[in-house]
Amino acid sequence: MAQFGIYIHWPFCESKCPYCDFNSHVSGILDEAAWRDAYLAELNRYAVETQNHVVTSVYFGGGTPSLMAADTVAAVLQRIQGLWSVSNDFEVTAEANPSSSNRAQFEAFRKAGVNRLSLGMQSLCDESLVFLGRRHTSVEARRAALEAAQVFDRYSLDFIYALPGQTASAWRSELEQILALASGHLSLYQLTIEPGTQFHKDRVPAAGEDVAEVLFRTTRNIMQAAGLADYEISNHALPGEECRHNLIYWRGEYYIGIGPGAHGRLPTHRLNEGLAVEAIQEIRLPNAWLMAVQSGEGGTQKRTALGREERLEELILMGLRLTEGIEFRRFERLFGAPLLTQLDKQKLEHLTDRGFLEQGENTLAATAKGRQRLNAVLAALIV
Ligand code: SF4
Repeated sequence: MAQFGIYIHWPFCESKCPYCDFNSHVSGILDEAAWRDAYLAELNRYAVETQNHVVTSVYFGGGTPSLMAADTVAAVLQRIQGLWSVSNDFEVTAEANPSSSNRAQFEAFRKAGVNRLSLGMQSLCDESLVFLGRRHTSVEARRAALEAAQVFDRYSLDFIYALPGQTASAWRSELEQILALASGHLSLYQLTIEPGTQFHKDRVPAAGEDVAEVLFRTTRNIMQAAGLADYEISNHALPGEECRHNLIYWRGEYYIGIGPGAHGRLPTHRLNEGLAVEAIQEIRLPNAWLMAVQSGEGGTQKRTALGREERLEELILMGLRLTEGIEFRRFERLFGAPLLTQLDKQKLEHLTDRGFLEQGENTLAATAKGRQRLNAVLAALIV
């Protein structure tokens, strides 16, 4: 069944973490009612052109959605259910930070309709939390994880590794502690130094390729032994506990993004070209977005028709991140042509022979070795 997601971006944080390149802003007092009304108005606007989709997931991301009032979350979810049909296993995820959440608030979110929490723990080591600019301690992170487990059947914990100087044995011991707190899902990201961040300005070094590879393998082995296989490069889950919303992105399905800087992908048709897709981007600055919505113009910055090559690259790039790979039937439904007719046969054979890709009856997937060097594999396959 086709999946369709709605992403809601709450762009505000208590402070800016030095590694963060998300569209997040530190703001003083907010007019939350004005923000709630703006989200509702945008949902109304998008519903007109996406009525034929059944919503399978909603994701409150940020920024720090745990700073939102539960009433705002409830109003958004009620409006979504009033405007669209939703699937029976409708997933509603909210991101939360330990420094801006507590059990009462988790309960209020659950009452509002959130059924999955993604908790930004980032580390269980106080020194690392200070380095990462986080506002919580390891004790507060553990407390938040336990409260999440008391309130939500489904929750994910997020961590960052490959910090400067982090050894495999230190990370291994932290992973053992992480597993003791985990339920069905863990997101484990390597620290990357992105342009525009404070770490980039401070020339914080990223882990070398060799160290990153050892840490990546360590992570994968420990997670696999614990039954939380890597279903995506940085995401691990028990079978059936995968994040359905993020699968929408990786599988190339359609979604809308509501809120400052949010992105969307919707199908369209171009004369003589059949199926095509539009990339939609919302206005990035929070106040500019809010004012555009309040003026009645809507919060969209631009809509760009993706060329065939761009869409092909996007579907391959996202699909090969997944352990399951790219399913041929889904690809054809979304692209309008069979995958194997779009790829250079020689390049495909070369990468398969060298053990970076594997072709099943219904799928093309990157092997574990291929996923570890995915950028190089993609460059060799589609450039
Ligand atoms: S809390 Fe998250 S979104 Fe906010 S600044 Fe830190 S990393 Fe970025």
